[in-house]
Amino acid sequence: MTEARSYQLFINGKWRAGSDGATIPVINPATEMVFASVAAASSSDLDEALASAERSRRAWSSRPAKERGDLLVRAARILAAKIPYAVKDLSTEQGKTIAEAAGEYARAVETFDWDGTHAEELSAAIPMGPNRMIVPAPLGVVAAFTPWNYPAVLIARKLAPALAAGCPVILKGAEETPSVAMHIVEALREAGLPDGVVNLVFGVPSQISRHLLNSPIVRVLTFTGSTAVGKQLARLAANNLQRCILELGGHSPVVVCADADLTKAVPAISEYKFECAGQSCNAPSRILVARPLYEEFLSRTTEVARTIKIGAPDDPATEMGPMANARRIEAMERLTKDATDRGAHVETGGARLDQLGFYWPPTILTGVPKDAKVLHEEPFGPILTVAPFDTIEEAIEEANATEYGLAAYFFTAAANSKRELIGGLAAGAVSVNYLKGVSADAPYGGVKQSGYGYEGGEHGVRSFQNLKLVNGQGSLG
Ligand code: NAD
Repeated sequence: MTEARSYQLFINGKWRAGSDGATIPVINPATEMVFASVAAASSSDLDEALASAERSRRAWSSRPAKERGDLLVRAARILAAKIPYAVKDLSTEQGKTIAEAAGEYARAVETFDWDGTHAEELSAAIPMGPNRMIVPAPLGVVAAFTPWNYPAVLIARKLAPALAAGCPVILKGAEETPSVAMHIVEALREAGLPDGVVNLVFGVPSQISRHLLNSPIVRVLTFTGSTAVGKQLARLAANNLQRCILELGGHSPVVVCADADLTKAVPAISEYKFECAGQSCNAPSRILVARPLYEEFLSRTTEVARTIKIGAPDDPATEMGPMANARRIEAMERLTKDATDRGAHVETGGARLDQLGFYWPPTILTGVPKDAKVLHEEPFGPILTVAPFDTIEEAIEEANATEYGLAAYFFTAAANSKRELIGGLAAGAVSVNYLKGVSADAPYGGVKQSGYGYEGGEHGVRSFQNLKLVNGQGSLG
């Protein structure tokens, strides 16, 4: 029997166990078996992480931005070289296929590379005429909380811009996917990151967030996760007025207009929806189809959903792996039952697969009444609702009828429909005739209960900066 892997904390430049020896089991979602453990930080470990981040702050923030950027670019190359074995770890922990894990790591590498390449330019003073300028200054120590669904990309989208801006980070990795945080932090260490600039902790999430946000050392909170937890963290951050970047839930609509090309729309929607078993904050979850296309769209999409090959994530033939944990299966069961109890029809899927592992098949629901929970709660799984509409105004009203506002998508060739939909959809990002992940150079953030603040591109780096206004008379130095 091979010994179970144990993942550690990284505090003040050293990998080590938690000071009281506590650990948390890591479960393989394809087998439901514990296969590894991760160290849990105690209060004294968190105090050490805070002190170490604070000690490193001055030197890191005053290091030339070009050097910080070069280090991030080096880390991107080192991380890229780790991908062939890192993807296996991610797939085992999370349940996504090896191809999905490779795609995710490639986006993480791209993010470190983009932020590293632009660190110098985004740290430079911005002139505002003869006697005024803005001097971007790092805000200070960042507490970053990252989830298990896209752990590599979401860690990269927090760490890379914060480090580029000159801020040390205390990162709480997801306990479900510890290898990812370990590989990324190790890449930074190998690239020459000074001790204390990144500290990695795991443990009981609510204890860690309370402890870190209670400290005035922390100046920025960045979190990706559910709206409920995001609100708790924003309340904690209010005590020390830490700046908050909150990337929260989504419940994204797709509007398929009467002139849409179904040969493009159906595969694009299915592919993006069922990636990572639907556990993505910007996965489409409510499809609104112009009535003349409704039956055709439904039958084609149901056919695609039925033929998706579900299986072990490390089998190259698998197109969709298991869900990440038992909580997601419970949520799928609850949402499906609530919808069908209210009269919805299951076109395909609708029940857990009768085999070991957290497997839930692609599920399509129709005739879903407006008060069903699945239309209001973030499904965060492979469940789609499909409904017809008669006018664009009606589609926009339906699309906006949730508390979320993260992503929205539509398919049409008509310029007037495009204008109406771009203007009318209440979302942080609107995609036209395509569905794809977020690239490293673009700002991304939600509206309504999907959060506030931006990650990605220039805005992502600015999130960690004080735009210090310098004005006066004569030369400003
Ligand atoms: P959850 O809300 O308990 O946890 C979500 C993430 O937040 C996890 O990584 C968890 O470790 C972290 N977290 C939880 N409580 C925390 C706290 N008090 N302080 C700091 N971090 C905390 O739920 P879950 O069962 O792990 O995930 C399910 C729900 O979370 C989904 O329904 C979805 O809405 C949301 N989620 C969203 C994203 C996203 O990309 N926006 C990612 C993962 C989960």
